[in-house]
Amino acid sequence: MSNVIYRVNEVFETIQGEGIYTGVPSVFIRLQGCDVGCPWCDTKHTWDVESGDECALDQVDQPSHDQKRWASATAEQLIQLVMQYHAKHVVITGGEPCWYDLNPLTRRLSDHGYQCQVETSGTYPIAIDPRAWVTLSPKIAMRGGREVLTSAMFRANEVKHPVGRQADIDALDALLARCPSSAAIALQPISQQPRATQLCIQTCIERNWRLSAQLHKYIGVL
Ligand code: SF4
Repeated sequence: MSNVIYRVNEVFETIQGEGIYTGVPSVFIRLQGCDVGCPWCDTKHTWDVESGDECALDQVDQPSHDQKRWASATAEQLIQLVMQYHAKHVVITGGEPCWYDLNPLTRRLSDHGYQCQVETSGTYPIAIDPRAWVTLSPKIAMRGGREVLTSAMFRANEVKHPVGRQADIDALDALLARCPSSAAIALQPISQQPRATQLCIQTCIERNWRLSAQLHKYIGVL
């Protein structure tokens, strides 16, 4: 029995809108806590773990609608929540989920027949079951001052890179030169900006990379 305690912001079912698993029905587990400091972060409510925001576990079994809240849960308690839903794909996100030792959670989920996907910034060591899929969205030179780890790039199955301008692609090229990776690469335009989208489309075609268009924002689901 594991003694790892996860701080959970929300658990809900939807369609994965990003990366290679786009379109796959998924249970999302959003963990609380992140100090990476991306200025455009759309989950800033998950950054802090303050004791005054603790709530009961049955309150996080639904979308948080950006509420700054969290409940404590063991891997076994989280699996019981996940089993209430239909999806067999589980996305563990944040916050920065690699704040936590994800081995107990991903191992037990995999043993129960779930495909686990972990979405990480790559700035923390990745402690997960070997069967889990790692989507690494490299957060380069963010305010928190953390560096993308070579070990995280090596473990990544997919590198999903947010792009607003050419400098973001140049930064990815520099990262790949420093940390070679065999992962599939997807470019994701920031905030559906038309110029960023066009730049991503053009670069993906030239390099045979993939486009991650954030489907959920176009079809209006969480
Ligand atoms: S790593 Fe993710 S949760 Fe953390 S600040 Fe960046 S975008 Fe937000």
